[in-house]
Amino acid sequence: AEEATEKLLDWLERHEHSLTVRLVKGAYWDFQVAQAQSQGWPVPVYEDKAETDHAFERLTEKLLGSYPLVSTAIASHNIRSVAHAMAVAESLGLAKDQLEFQLLYGMGDAIGAAITKLGYPLRIYAPVGDLIPGMAYLVRRILENTANESFLRQDALKERSPDELLAFPIGKERPGAAPAAQDEHHGYRPEPFADWSQTSERHRMQYALAAVRERLGKRYGLLTAASARASDAGKWAASRNPSRPDEVIGEVAQATPADAGAAVMAAQAAQPAWAALPVAERTACLRRAADALRKRHHELASWEVLEVGKTWREADADVVEAIEYLEYYSFQMERLARGRPLLQVPGERNLYRYEPKGVVAVISPWNFPAAILTGMASAALVAGNAVILKPSEQSNVIAHHVASALREAGVPPGILQCLPGNGETVGAALVDHPGVHAILFTGSKAVGKTIIERASRVAAGQRHFKHVVAELGGKNALIVDDDADLDAAITGILHSAFSYGGQKCSALSRLIVHERVYEPLMKRLIEAVDRLKVGDPAQPDTDFGPLIEADAQSRLREALAYAKTAGRVAYAYPDARLPKEGWFVGPAIVTDISPQDRLAQAELFGPLLCVFQVQSFEAGIALANGTDFALTGGVYTRSPKHIDVAARTFDAGNLYVNRPITGAIVGRQPFGGRRLSGLGTKAGGPDYLLQLLTPKTISINTARHGTPLE
Ligand code: NAD
Repeated sequence: AEEATEKLLDWLERHEHSLTVRLVKGAYWDFQVAQAQSQGWPVPVYEDKAETDHAFERLTEKLLGSYPLVSTAIASHNIRSVAHAMAVAESLGLAKDQLEFQLLYGMGDAIGAAITKLGYPLRIYAPVGDLIPGMAYLVRRILENTANESFLRQDALKERSPDELLAFPIGKERPGAAPAAQDEHHGYRPEPFADWSQTSERHRMQYALAAVRERLGKRYGLLTAASARASDAGKWAASRNPSRPDEVIGEVAQATPADAGAAVMAAQAAQPAWAALPVAERTACLRRAADALRKRHHELASWEVLEVGKTWREADADVVEAIEYLEYYSFQMERLARGRPLLQVPGERNLYRYEPKGVVAVISPWNFPAAILTGMASAALVAGNAVILKPSEQSNVIAHHVASALREAGVPPGILQCLPGNGETVGAALVDHPGVHAILFTGSKAVGKTIIERASRVAAGQRHFKHVVAELGGKNALIVDDDADLDAAITGILHSAFSYGGQKCSALSRLIVHERVYEPLMKRLIEAVDRLKVGDPAQPDTDFGPLIEADAQSRLREALAYAKTAGRVAYAYPDARLPKEGWFVGPAIVTDISPQDRLAQAELFGPLLCVFQVQSFEAGIALANGTDFALTGGVYTRSPKHIDVAARTFDAGNLYVNRPITGAIVGRQPFGGRRLSGLGTKAGGPDYLLQLLTPKTISINTARHGTPLE
């Protein structure tokens, strides 16, 4: 505020203008603190009440001292702040009508009487307008006024003496702040998202985009144990910018099933030494990789904008998530390495240890090109396994950068190999290989099903069962209840259904609305969707970019044409507003469709939202549960009873209440589905590593000989 005030005064002086400044403090304090903490940003307000009060007094002096450039309105119910303003005005020789005081109607009547008695102008303000938003305002005021450090509370409840309340703010003894909770995540810190409101951050991204554009079209070889195979002998495939298909992001070597076989052999040879390293050495490697990604944050985000068409915000979030996986799984492995306590009895020593599985194939999709690949790979690596990556055909260049960063951080070549190539050939060869112990797959239901089937076969000479973790698709529903906050619901729907053009496994594709709010919600939703800007994601004002490839574009166009026959298209983005080249498809909203229709059952992976009307919340839950999938889901409701019903009966791996249904954060919303949405446990959660480890129990009779083992 002080910097802004200086700038404002300077501007007024230069432009010979004057105005009134209303000085307030504390409003939205909790919101600002919570929001900054959830984004990992520095808290933008003073966290100590005394510092806020002191700053208010400095600003009072500055503003009153700038009369007549500014007329000051002191909007405070704190008697010390009010009295201080009066004293400053007097010492500056201001007339009483050269400032004013402001109080909220019904609050501080006695203060108001004192102010007018002393001859100062007093303005009483009151909220006007709709009852419900007005109540929200009043509730905020009640919460703020009853906060432990509120002047009004301390005065009204006589928690402080008048002398204490009127004392100079700094140096006041504060009510004991509770020490920060030392929860079980102490030691793991989430990575902050980019704050695009900062000019410097935007400049860094613009600069990185330009720098990455200079590097387009290069060749990327395989990363095998022997070396990077970059010979011209094999096949190469171009990776293209979906916004401008003529722009080649890079040429990527295509691995063959023979390369897959060689990679498994090399991984088998290298893995025991990696597994034998102390956990601290493996976690140090991963943390160095996290540092490297952090340093290259904007660069990697730029590759994502260009290779998979993510907007700045989405690309940033993906890189943040990749960094978090490296840190989070390192932290979790350090905890697991301490083992688990077992029941001990005299004369017996029981130990429970975790050992890695061996060779792990990581098969990843393109839609979170850094995060998902890094998440699966880092979990396997930190647990002591060797990893062979088979990234998606559409995001090979990003995969190469991430894999190289891991190697540069010290992961040995035999322990991390990257084999870009066709899923049905090289991917399938890895799945089938008898030397592979576990398969971490994220992708479509169809491919996942094939992988689970194939991995269940035991080849001749294969001495283990393969473990498959499959994170698959969704057809996710969100219910808007009759008492929902529609402002919040609209924002949540837009983000859930259309961020990244609906190309997220967690994306909303079935909106279920209570009939009592259906009409107003639809009207507002359509207006809001029409304001979205679909375009080149390299432009910072783009809401969402292109679909990933030409096939996806045709699939969505066909779905929309079909929707016209099977239901009603309530909104379709005008084609004329789409860029001419690139695989763009605008958002669409479809109503009057049967819940059993394929549009409402099959994953479409694009910006098409089906909307249903229901007569009750319970009917909404039944409709939401009526698919093969169970990945994410959400409800917007004010009813605690309905939140409870949803928590118990909404069948979704991740259920979100009064917030968007996408955007799970590592360690905060461990992610993964049930039913045909997935097999295995949650990514970014406390159990994930267990899937990559095999526990071993050792029981030693110590009655006669003792034990050398810890
Ligand atoms: P996809 O299934 O087409 O491909 C995923 C990976 O599997 C790619 O690397 C591909 O090359 C490989 N592959 C293809 N056929 C294979 C085979 N026969 N054997 C072995 N590997 C094979 O999926 P996609 O288009 O890359 O990604 C989108 C899908 O992923 C959507 O269905 C989405 O819902 C899902 N997804 C799920 C999650 C989750 O966490 N549940 C996260 C992201 C994406």
